[in-house]
Amino acid sequence: METTLILLKPDCITKGHAGEVLKRFEAAGLKIRGAKMIALGEAILKEHYAHIAAKPFFPEVQAFMQSSPVIALALEGTNAIAQVRDLLGPTDSKKAAPGTIRGDFGVDVMVNVVHASDSAENAKVELARFFRDGEIFDYARA
Ligand code: ADP
Repeated sequence: METTLILLKPDCITKGHAGEVLKRFEAAGLKIRGAKMIALGEAILKEHYAHIAAKPFFPEVQAFMQSSPVIALALEGTNAIAQVRDLLGPTDSKKAAPGTIRGDFGVDVMVNVVHASDSAENAKVELARFFRDGEIFDYARA
């Protein structure tokens, strides 16, 4: 069992795809352990995207990620990290197959609907970045 950190990005929120995306995650057997809406400040974005902060496209990513609030989710499931990234498709929405979340709703490499942790190590760090103690809930699976 793994828990992964998801961000429903501004394009997902403003275009009204949050319900459909969440439906796909739940249909795949993932359980919501935490959920919150957040307006991302500069500091948390720089931390979250430290690996791309030096790239020329970073200012554009920052503006995009601040163009509306996002919804952060903690999703739990078997192999949740790889499972969610399979459901998303590749980073570049234009290369994502129909039937994947980015293939169906994404626009391009930046406007790509959802962020999802890419490893167990990063998931741990990212969950702690977006959720405080007591904001991730443990309850019996149905
Ligand atoms: P992922 O989000 O799939 O793990 P990365 O960590 O490489 O991908 O990139 C983080 C985010 O930065 C991407 O989801 C996307 O929104 C944006 N991004 C990545 N590469 C580019 C690019 N070449 N041009 C514009 N934005 C990009």
